[in-house]
Amino acid sequence: MPTLLSDLTTLRLGGPAHRVITATTADELVQTVLTADNDRQPVLIVGGGSNLVVGDAGWAGLVVIVRTSGITIDTAGDSVRLTVAAGERWDDVVAMTVADGISGLAAMSGVPGLTGATPVQNVGAYGHEVGQTISGLTIYDRELAEVRHWTPAECGFGFRTSAFKHTDRYVVLDVTFDLVRSPLAGPVRYLELARRLDVDPEASVAQSELREAVLELRRSKGMLLDAADHDTWSVGSFFVNPFVPPELVPDGCPNWEVDGRVKLSAAWLIENAGFAKGFRLDGPVSVSTKHTLALTNRGGATTKELLELARVIRAGVQERFGITLRPEARLAGAEL
Ligand SMILES: Cc1cc2nc3c(=O)[nH]c(=O)nc-3n(C[C@H](O)[C@H](O)[C@H](O)COP(=O)(O)OP(=O)(O)OC[C@H]3O[C@@H](n4cnc5c(N)ncnc54)[C@H](O)[C@@H]3O)c2cc1C
Repeated sequence: MPTLLSDLTTLRLGGPAHRVITATTADELVQTVLTADNDRQPVLIVGGGSNLVVGDAGWAGLVVIVRTSGITIDTAGDSVRLTVAAGERWDDVVAMTVADGISGLAAMSGVPGLTGATPVQNVGAYGHEVGQTISGLTIYDRELAEVRHWTPAECGFGFRTSAFKHTDRYVVLDVTFDLVRSPLAGPVRYLELARRLDVDPEASVAQSELREAVLELRRSKGMLLDAADHDTWSVGSFFVNPFVPPELVPDGCPNWEVDGRVKLSAAWLIENAGFAKGFRLDGPVSVSTKHTLALTNRGGATTKELLELARVIRAGVQERFGITLRPEARLAGAEL
């Protein structure tokens, strides 16, 4: 029986993989990719499959499942340097830091997937991004066939993007985070979270308190994986919050200034273009009933049906606001 990508993705969509290898060490990961490259086989790297939309025809090459492990911790005074293998589950790493009184990651609690994928789109939540604490990475550069150590400056971190997004050239082998030992998380800042915690946005709270509040908020939005909740059979946000020139900000649309540019709420655009929570076409796919940015598989759907829903929403937003939404997830063997 061929492995189905639907068994490897949180959307539970995607056809068969031609060939599958699970890599459990960094060496194995590098050698597997190198051999496939020499044989000119298309390679798809799969971590937790939580940001992947794979076509119904599947993947006609090699699927490499990353299952490497290992965490090293170096401490100097209050400084803690954590080097994490790509295959470690992200939320386990966050939970471990919170339990050990290491501050810096708690706001990103509950994000699905593996640590090696976090730099790819500079994973972020509740005002924090991994790029803020990453101090280095080990990567395999497929073009140069070389393992290299990269500084954060080389990674090009931006809002949900980096040098690793929109390219298959690099495989992340491990990620190093520079954190501090502290029972408190830094100032909450994110208003929705401060409200949930009932504190001033500039207040600091215990890390465990922050983690619990984040997990609760995420659960209420269907952003915490739960096999029993179809609202979480998604890739999280399907579309990225778009950047527009200031004169194109629609009246009433929540917006933020980021590096001199204006970022809009894609959820607001979708809702105000007429696609409410739970919106659906004929097939078993719908906008999540808890969050307009998540497109979900209600069970037994196809990628074709999901992408049709995405196209209808993208066209509706384009028609209403003249803004083109772009997908956040990696589309493999599929096109929007
Ligand atoms: C319910 C839900 C909530 C989410 N919430 C958030 C959120 O709050 N913030 C956020 O930023 N994202 C969020 N996401 C998206 C997703 O969880 C993240 O992007 C996550 O980092 C993807 O990790 P993964 O291991 O599942 O990657 P995968 O889906 O397996 O892969 C994603 C992409 O990264 C590549 N890749 C994976 N591992 C490596 C590696 N080691 N080296 C090089 N390339 C690699 C893959 O080839 C693919 O292109 C959410 C997703 C879901 C389903």
